[in-house]
Amino acid sequence: MRRNDQTKLKNWAGNFQYNAARIHHPKTLDEIRELVRRGEKIRALGSRHSFNRVADCAQDIISLQHFDRVIALDRERLTVTVEGGIRYGELSQYLHKEGFALHNLASLPHISVAGACATATHGSGDKNGNLATAISAMELVTADGEVITVSREKDGDTFNGMVVGLGGFGVVTKLTLDIQPTFDVQQDIDENLPLRELENDFDEIMSSGYSVSLFTDWKTETVNQVWVKRRLLDGKKLEAESNFFGASPATRRMHPIGELSSENCTEQMGIPGAWQDRLPHFRMDHTPSSGEELQTEYFVAREDAFAALLTLNEIREYIAPLLMISEVRTIAADDLWMSMCYKQDSVALHFTWKMDEPAVMQLLPMIEAQLAPFDPRPHWGKLFMVSPMQLEMRYERMQDFRQLLSQYDPQGKFRNAFLDLNIFGVS
Ligand SMILES: Cc1cc2nc3c(=O)[nH]c(=O)nc-3n(C[C@H](O)[C@H](O)[C@H](O)COP(=O)(O)OP(=O)(O)OC[C@H]3O[C@@H](n4cnc5c(N)ncnc54)[C@H](O)[C@@H]3O)c2cc1C
Repeated sequence: MRRNDQTKLKNWAGNFQYNAARIHHPKTLDEIRELVRRGEKIRALGSRHSFNRVADCAQDIISLQHFDRVIALDRERLTVTVEGGIRYGELSQYLHKEGFALHNLASLPHISVAGACATATHGSGDKNGNLATAISAMELVTADGEVITVSREKDGDTFNGMVVGLGGFGVVTKLTLDIQPTFDVQQDIDENLPLRELENDFDEIMSSGYSVSLFTDWKTETVNQVWVKRRLLDGKKLEAESNFFGASPATRRMHPIGELSSENCTEQMGIPGAWQDRLPHFRMDHTPSSGEELQTEYFVAREDAFAALLTLNEIREYIAPLLMISEVRTIAADDLWMSMCYKQDSVALHFTWKMDEPAVMQLLPMIEAQLAPFDPRPHWGKLFMVSPMQLEMRYERMQDFRQLLSQYDPQGKFRNAFLDLNIFGVS
């Protein structure tokens, strides 16, 4: 592709164009190896769903678009091995057909497995680790063009440092994921939960399903919608609660943004269905979410959830005008060095913003200052202003991560401006 064509490539939200001089779409492993060997500055690209420039690079971007196959299903060891560019939607359909499931999914199934895991993408659920916790092995093309395999079994803690790798270790060409027998889920929605109910009942509310999400537009002191996804035994439908902590059952299908059509959302109203058709909020066969939007997300320790929500409530008059919707989810602690949930059961405070980046970037320091007492860790794939110094303090394995990156990529071939700033503290 010529430069003129390249500059037109934008991320999913369309809030920026990639700076890359060349974007490659290789079809074979050897092509990737050759591109990496020849290149000076390289980044791998997934499905382009990140809202910041974590995947960007001034020189060569390698899209994994054509690496979208399932390679092997191991029914005994309960693993599936896939190519780096496959999206969760396709993988989920394949797995369900074969009688298997992943432990969780993000709000939409359109994202690539490698890209999602590189930024510690997550769904919800007290006992569910982020999506990267399912990865047990990875094949990478490293800076010298060599192909290596790293695994949980063989590489132990070093592997924990590489899974949420922010694209810094090389091009991930294959991943092996833990799977389990397929299961059914039903999704019920309750409306108008008073914020105060969370003070004493946060744990009970968030544990009322396998995966629970709270949605608020911060216009009032109310959680507009509570989405409860319950895992079913033998596919048998469960009764909905008639009074859910002061909230009432929805009488129609809903979009998280109340005024939007629910057409692109997964089935609700307690109708049982397969895990991959209920765990994401949005359907694979429809355009996800509302399209024109920006996102930000901060993770705090689970025990600080209510205090953090109260502090956001203090500034909701600034948040609400720019906001489409906020979502609150819980995620189990993990051991992945750069995960936002490293060693900490977490609550994620998410904001879907209207497409007004200057105004959003102006507001983020206020939100970050409010949340500062809780040492919020920002989502690596979304917009944030947290300084490199604060990131250093909030990620206890940051120094180990830098050393590991330098060991695998001494010349910094896979380093971009995002990593330079946020990981190496160089602007
Ligand atoms: C509508 C929408 C909804 C979202 N919902 C959620 C959600 O529910 N939960 C959540 O946590 N996040 C969510 N996100 C954020 C999203 O999951 C992350 O930004 C994720 O990284 C996107 O994956 P991607 O494949 O698009 O990666 P890209 O944006 O293409 O890349 C992200 C990073 O991964 C690296 N990378 C990609 N492929 C490879 C590879 N093969 N080898 C090495 N590195 C690679 C890139 O270099 C880059 O560093 C959402 C985003 C959107 C747009």
